[in-house]
Amino acid sequence: MNNDKIKALSWPENQLLPAIVQHAISGKVLMQGYMNPQALEHSLQSGQVTFYSRSKQRLWTKGESSGNTLQLVSMASDCDADSLLVLALPKGPTCHVGTETCWHDNSANSPQLSFLYDLEQVIQSREGADPASSYTASLFAKGVKRIAQKVGEEGVESALAAMAGDKEELANEAADLIFHLLVLLRSQQLELNDVIKVLQKRHN
Ligand code: AMP
Ligand code: ZN
Ligand code: ZN
Ligand code: ZN
Repeated sequence: MNNDKIKALSWPENQLLPAIVQHAISGKVLMQGYMNPQALEHSLQSGQVTFYSRSKQRLWTKGESSGNTLQLVSMASDCDADSLLVLALPKGPTCHVGTETCWHDNSANSPQLSFLYDLEQVIQSREGADPASSYTASLFAKGVKRIAQKVGEEGVESALAAMAGDKEELANEAADLIFHLLVLLRSQQLELNDVIKVLQKRHN
């Protein structure tokens, strides 16, 4: 968004546009604030999502005291230019009460596919954990060879379930496959998003 585009937005008399912040990978809605032209410019220049705080009556860079910042990924205005959509990557919980998003009821703010991202975070948290305490930790402890073998097994089991026409079994084996594939990716310092980028590149 350049200066001309910022001026062309449909600024109301109070110069505040609602800005909805969405997680750039999971798609979860994280928070909503207001931006004036200065907040918008500051966000673009600093790469840190910055609002105009109506209570503080000044620019407010999210995380300025808590450290729970929002790293700007991209920004867009809606059809009639009176609302902003901000894609960001959060550092820490976004809500001041300590939750991931400001919509605390997790079931009401969890697009189905975002569960893959949640699962990826759980898998990451098991790296280096006590192998006796978790299956995922025990996989990491056994190393890449065992994880790769599991991916192979689950792939074959998925294929066999499909060949047998067993839908329920296929869904179960596909779940096993995706879980172990996520563990394998993590063991090689890769994430699902790296795979998505490859798919997107092919699509273009
Ligand atoms: P922070 O910007 O995270 O350093 O928080 C500073 C203050 O801003 C907090 O004490 C809250 O009053 C407010 N605040 C922080 N995060 C949010 C949020 N997601 N929604 C509304 N207010 C917030
Ligand atoms: Zn609109
Ligand atoms: Zn909140
Ligand atoms: Zn299986």
